[in-house]
Amino acid sequence: MSDNDAAAESPLSPSVRRVSDWDADRLAGLAVEHGTPLYVQDLDRVRENSERLREAFPDADVRYAVKAHTGRAVLEAVREAGLDAECASAGEVDRALAAGFGGDRLHYTAVNPPARDLDYVVGVAEAEPDLTITVGAVDTLDRLAERGYDGRVCVRVNPGVGAGHHEKVRTGGAAKFGIPYDRAAEATRDAAERFDVVGIHAHAGSGIDPDQLDSHREMVTRMGGLARDLTDPDEGGVAPVDIEYVDVGGGFGVPYKEDAPALDLPAVAEATREAVAPLPAGVDLAIEPGRYVVADAGVLLTRVNTVKPTPDERVVGVDAGMTDLLRPAMYDAYHPIRNLGGGRESDGSDAPAIDDRSATPVTVAGPICETGDTLCTDRALADPVRGDLLAVGIAGAYGYEMATQYNSRPRPPEVALDDGTAAIVRRRETLDDLTTVERDANRNRADRTEAGR
Ligand SMILES: *Cc1c(COP(=O)(O)O)cnc(C)c1O
Repeated sequence: MSDNDAAAESPLSPSVRRVSDWDADRLAGLAVEHGTPLYVQDLDRVRENSERLREAFPDADVRYAVKAHTGRAVLEAVREAGLDAECASAGEVDRALAAGFGGDRLHYTAVNPPARDLDYVVGVAEAEPDLTITVGAVDTLDRLAERGYDGRVCVRVNPGVGAGHHEKVRTGGAAKFGIPYDRAAEATRDAAERFDVVGIHAHAGSGIDPDQLDSHREMVTRMGGLARDLTDPDEGGVAPVDIEYVDVGGGFGVPYKEDAPALDLPAVAEATREAVAPLPAGVDLAIEPGRYVVADAGVLLTRVNTVKPTPDERVVGVDAGMTDLLRPAMYDAYHPIRNLGGGRESDGSDAPAIDDRSATPVTVAGPICETGDTLCTDRALADPVRGDLLAVGIAGAYGYEMATQYNSRPRPPEVALDDGTAAIVRRRETLDDLTTVERDANRNRADRTEAGR
């Protein structure tokens, strides 16, 4: 499975966009116009990725796991490309609705759902009865019934096999997610007595890659077996459950490393179809990619502000940190980094053109008071000088979404590229934004004190 095979299979678009593929002048211009750190998300690329998925899985429902990137512009692009929305919280459902997804294209996956989220989603389902709620515990079904809900339910199964690039993103084997495989058939039949059970679901984790196709295949095989079992009219006197789909989750891998091959999507699709077959008549396959849709459509731009030689390493200080892109600190994730140049030597003289700089091993560190706040260590970059612009690649998934205000850092803005135009779609937060909720609370407290006098 090589990069070339994958590329040859898809006439539509290259199967991965590397950080080296971005137009350096364009990115440099955006960084000057909007300042750094800055996220850039290319909606054209989001559409290409969506289309490649639909092309590889022509008979499947493709649901975008919105938690990878919930920006309004991205949600609209994905909706227009024909994908459904898979939401993990009330907030995500709210944003998907606002972006125009109707109930028939909305799937809410309840994981230990807070009461507030259940109340909200059950309320939405009254107006949008085609919405589906995916549930991974009998307890959650009871809580839905208590709220008078008897609508569309999908049962989340723990298939007992997991995949993922890091322990923290392997969900398929973790007891937290889904009803254990051994009990899933019975739980689904019981659920069908109280709800309109429309599907079964499993998400094995994030990072289906060429080496992990076996565990993906095994999970999908199990789900296909469960679907046949549930719909079998001759199954020992129990009523069959008329499910509409088998959802085998997301986790389609993206090559973060420069030399890693792109995922051979047609091969994954083929393996998935083979493993799930034969699906009972009227039962469709569904998938839920998040990362694959948005990851290589985004870069994070950051400016070098400090270069410090030390006896052990050369530390390059930049204005983006773990508050802007958490993945390296949280998952030891690798992100490709490209030096776009543009800076000056510390004596003010011009630095050599970027192509003339020698590759130098560096640590790139952010401005947060945490040892873990490094974007990379021992990485060969075109020797950075102060003022250089770095592009951190494959940052479109779980990038902005995981950004925080830790260290009282306003979150960065985001520019969307759309058919040649660039527009700010999320403005940079201000220092004022950091204290909005505090000021609101204090105002209320002052009002109460006033009233109590
Ligand atoms: C996060 C998640 C996904 C998407 O995972 P990716 O690795 O981004 O493709 C799909 N389904 C569920 C239930 C998830 O929680």
